[in-house]
This record gives sequence, structure tokens and C-alpha cells, in this order.
Amino acid sequence: MVTKTFPASDISDLVDLGVRDIGESRDQEARVKAQELAGSTPPDLRWHFIGQLQTNKAKSVASYADFVHSVDRAGLVLALAKGAAAANREVGALVQVNLDRRTTAAAGAVADTERGGTTAQETLELANQIAGCDGLRLTGVMGVAPLNEPPAPAFELLAQMATQVRAAHPSASMISAGMSDDMVEAIAAGATHVRIGSKVLGFRPPIR
Ligand SMILES: *Cc1c(COP(=O)(O)O)cnc(C)c1O
Repeated sequence: MVTKTFPASDISDLVDLGVRDIGESRDQEARVKAQELAGSTPPDLRWHFIGQLQTNKAKSVASYADFVHSVDRAGLVLALAKGAAAANREVGALVQVNLDRRTTAAAGAVADTERGGTTAQETLELANQIAGCDGLRLTGVMGVAPLNEPPAPAFELLAQMATQVRAAHPSASMISAGMSDDMVEAIAAGATHVRIGSKVLGFRPPIR
């Protein structure tokens, strides 16, 4: 359940209802909530960091996140691994694949769109790097479908990337895809985890 912008008390309510996976997209907000709830949440609660992540926030995120879905560049892998080691933790890392057509169509193009993510060509390379890092556990792939386009082709590309990564790393089986408005298409394309916020928690003012 994606709880960004909603108060920690909502997370407590969700936990009471049996939710064990919490998604947050901003370090400052997530860190405060994780601290606020530490001690009162069940030990099997999992924090998923799903937002764009600046390298200088990686250490902080690695101190509380169980999974980081938005790993999309080598420098971030190293910073997360360092942070995980410093906190004596193991963090699940997913390669975020850029599903923006402008990027995926241009072979070899650098993924520099706002949403971030690796190109199709970079995905396996980054997965290999993560798999070789102490402190990180390669968990799978993640994608955000482009706006104003049918999401199915984007999720098909993500499924292909997932197959490629899993061929080399069989335990990296997680496919994080789909939000409130495109979860049906994501599940049809093989998503193992959907990231749902507004359809459960209600209206959320736009971030940024
Ligand atoms: C906010 C967010 C979601 C949840 O979106 P909803 O439309 O509220 O379900 C999912 N994934 C990411 C990366 C997000 O930032």
C-alpha cells in the first residue's frame, strides 16, 4: 500500500487490517514515519522505497527500507550498498526500468527522463552489479507506465526485462508494476506486486 502524503496513523490502521507492505516515495517523509512507528509495528512489516532516489539520500533510505524499487544507476547501487553495510542490513533492490517510449525506442539512449529508470540495454548490467554487492539482494524489476498512453505495451516490455534478469538470477522474481489506474493491465502482464495508493487511501494532492 502506497502511503505517501498520508500520516503514520493511517499506516497503523492499515497494519491493523493486515497490511504488511508499505510504499513511500520521499526519504524525509518515509524516515520520519518509520521512526515514529518503530516499536509499535509488527516485525514482519516491510518498507518499500518506490520514489526517485538521489544518491545523497541512499544511506538514509538503506537504514530503514527493506526494498528499494527505484535503483537505476551504478552510483546509486554503490551508495545503497554502502548504506546497507553501515546499518548492518540487507536491502532488497529492484532495477527500475524506464518504460517511457521515447527512451525505450532509442537504442542505447541514456534514460534521463523525470521518471528515471534504466534503458532495456542497461537493465541486465545493473542487475548484475546489484547481485555482486554485499548488503544488497537483487529482488527483481520495477516500472512505471508512461502517462497518456495505453500501459499494456510498457508492462510487456517490463515482463521481457524481468525474464531476462531472472534467466541470470533466478531468485530475482519480483515484478513491481501497476498503480491504482493501471493495475489490471499490470497484473495481466505478470506483475507480482502492485503499488496502490489513491484507490485505497483516497485523494492525494499532487507531489512536487
Ligand atoms: C504514488 C505512487 C504510486 C501509487 O499511485 P496511486 O495512483 O495513488 O495508486 C505507485 N508507484 C509510485 C512509484 C508512486 O510514486
